[in-house]
Amino acid sequence: MKTYALVCKQDEPSVIIGQQIRQALDKTMNYDEDNPELVISVGGDGTMLHCVHLYENQLDQVAFIGMHTGTLGFLTDYQKDEVEQLIQDIQTKDYRIYERELLNIQTNLCAYLALNEFRIENNMRSQVLDVSINNEFLETFRGNGLCISTPSGSTAYNKSLGGAIVYSQEGLMQLSEIAGIHHNAYRSLGSSLILDQSHTIHIESQNFDNAVLGIDHLVYDLKDVKYIDISIALQKARFIELKQVSLIERLKRAYL
Ligand code: NAP
Repeated sequence: MKTYALVCKQDEPSVIIGQQIRQALDKTMNYDEDNPELVISVGGDGTMLHCVHLYENQLDQVAFIGMHTGTLGFLTDYQKDEVEQLIQDIQTKDYRIYERELLNIQTNLCAYLALNEFRIENNMRSQVLDVSINNEFLETFRGNGLCISTPSGSTAYNKSLGGAIVYSQEGLMQLSEIAGIHHNAYRSLGSSLILDQSHTIHIESQNFDNAVLGIDHLVYDLKDVKYIDISIALQKARFIELKQVSLIERLKRAYL
């Protein structure tokens, strides 16, 4: 790869590491923020989300790699004491490209991509949502909202909702409830539902007042939105693997 860009979290350790990487890589590669072949994220998983959205119109030309200075590190491979190794690996090592799945979110007004998840959330009143899958009605959900996550996002908000961690990039999405109301009058599935790429989830509501649409770290309002369709996107986010980090290692590092 000949061109690269850096996206750094704006805290002191990340900025310093960013400067170190830039000093070293500028000797062999060109820094090009507009057309990078490689984008290096320095920060946390949140910074990687920023990176992917920053370059979401160039996903087929860009590959991502992460240096971790945040709290978790599911989307990043290198730890902050491995700066030298990252620089050396980028300059000398053969790499493998692997793809992370994205969600395609289509409303009657707009389309979005998500790396972690899509959410409808309402913290002001109970949100009623009619959910259909491939044009077949499933349920009327009542509660705070719904979250549909990718395998990459399964360790993020989805995990806090009691959803499963999915270790696969093979075209799966997971529908989880956010504080669903379940009693004799109102009932929805309750458990998380994992669907493959042959499915489209269709969500409608008579009233989206006070609800927000969350896409990863981004939040949009639902004014004039009538319906939302969620499916697995054709586009993927490409990541380079220079160093193998097993799922078990990541899980232990983050949670155990
Ligand atoms: P944020 O502060 O950037 O992120 C919140 C936490 O989620 C951070 O600890 C972040 O790790 C971690 N995270 C992000 N993506 C992850 C992934 N794929 N696997 C495991 N952990 C992950 O918050 P934000 O800007 O509002 O939202 C960004 C993402 O954070 C959302 O997509 C959502 O999934 C997640 N989030 C989770 C909760 C929750 O679990 N209750 C609440 C809000 C947001 P780093 O510190 O390494 O960046």
